[in-house]
Amino acid sequence: MTSSTTHPAIVFTDWDGTVTLQDSNDYLTDNIGFGLKKRSEINDEILNGSQSFRDGFREMLESVTTPFPECIDILLKNVQLDPGFKHFYHWCESKNIPVIVISSGMRPIIYALLKNLVGEEAIKNIEIISNEVEIDEKSKKWDIIYKDPESPFGHDKARSIKQYLTKHGYNESNTPLLFYSGDGVSDLSAAKETNLLFAKHGKDLIKYCIRENIPYTEFNSFEDILSKITTIIEADGKNINDFIENK
Ligand SMILES: [Mg+2]
Repeated sequence: MTSSTTHPAIVFTDWDGTVTLQDSNDYLTDNIGFGLKKRSEINDEILNGSQSFRDGFREMLESVTTPFPECIDILLKNVQLDPGFKHFYHWCESKNIPVIVISSGMRPIIYALLKNLVGEEAIKNIEIISNEVEIDEKSKKWDIIYKDPESPFGHDKARSIKQYLTKHGYNESNTPLLFYSGDGVSDLSAAKETNLLFAKHGKDLIKYCIRENIPYTEFNSFEDILSKITTIIEADGKNINDFIENK
């Protein structure tokens, strides 16, 4: 494995429930949409494969009829940052490690939360690759606009990672260590694209990794990710397999 001289690693990360403690879309659905019971039913359908993430997720969001700016206000009041993320992000900055958010959520929500929870300069330094939102000015109704509408995930995270690497001139010989952190079903598409997948303790992604035999290492907060990545970079990636929990 060759480490780039400019970037020792690249960290791709899910946003909702990974960088934040609460999933914004779940929060809206549960509190001002059709509620937790119906969301859990759809979530089960997504988990057992009878419904795609893209269609189930759209159904949840369609149950939220509150105007979009109000949704953002509600989220700014209720969504919290992972307690280790700020430290992790500043450490990455000091080591010249890019942090890229790869999200199935909607850009304006992520942007507002990132600015509010991490700070103004974070929005300049952390690239967001996500779905968008379209707001009808007259009726104030809004809809998610999927980045990859033909993908059952709505946003094909694996494709976004590949596109990022190509855009930045990485190929087989010059790609640094790649990491991904996530918590849910939409992260499965990204899981195989990096050298190590961090899966959040107690969340759906771990169930999937075990079922699909996708190697993962657990984390509780970004402090754990920082500690493991530090150790891995020091060993130039040679110790990555030591961290895999489902060998
Ligand atoms: Mg998530």
